[in-house]
Amino acid sequence: MNVAENLKKIKDSLPSHVSLVAVSKTKSESEIMAAYGAGQRIFGENKIQEMAAKWEALPKDIEWHMIGHVQRNKVKYMAGFVSLVHGVDSVRLLRELDKRAAQYDRVIDCLLQVHIARETTKFGFDRDELRNLFEDEALSQLQHVRIRGLMGMATFTEDMEQVRSEFRNLKSLYDEFSNSREGMDILSMGMSGDYTIAVEEGSTMVRIGSSIFGFRDCQISG
Ligand SMILES: *Cc1c(COP(=O)(O)O)cnc(C)c1O
Repeated sequence: MNVAENLKKIKDSLPSHVSLVAVSKTKSESEIMAAYGAGQRIFGENKIQEMAAKWEALPKDIEWHMIGHVQRNKVKYMAGFVSLVHGVDSVRLLRELDKRAAQYDRVIDCLLQVHIARETTKFGFDRDELRNLFEDEALSQLQHVRIRGLMGMATFTEDMEQVRSEFRNLKSLYDEFSNSREGMDILSMGMSGDYTIAVEEGSTMVRIGSSIFGFRDCQISG
């Protein structure tokens, strides 16, 4: 795998308004540095402690995104440096992020994860829960988190029409909420297998791992 070549091919295929998160979970520091050397600065991890170790070891101009499911008791390990948390799936987690960010005098940018897939194993809010959340006064009292948009994962399937319709649903939710709230400008959808469709359906941020770094020994999602 030539990381620099893969990166270039993907970047050339993305419209300029779409940002690329290079998903480096399970990948070594030297593999990450190969991408860094090719100009990549945004990396995504799905385990907080693994991300924290890489943050300590690697250049400080890297933006670290937490793309996986977040356990509340581990928020403290990333609160000082994480740039964007993609997988916020509960109000309790938002409160914990707010509390820990306050300790560092920071504001942590967050995406709300929406459950769009058929699989019940995937995390996230549904449409009604999102509406309730945005109407909740308590949300505006959290001074140290900022909701920047939505994130979703499509069903793992060969059926690309299914995938497309799930992305379309997420985009329509995103439009609904981003029109009524300030500062919502990120729609994180699309991975190696489906990012072309995601971009066609309005994604502004894609999370790509295996198409950059090659297959992982252990395929972990979420
Ligand atoms: C692993 C992962 C990705 C990247 O998956 P690839 O298929 O390797 O591109 C994207 N998003 C999430 C949430 C992931 O866990």
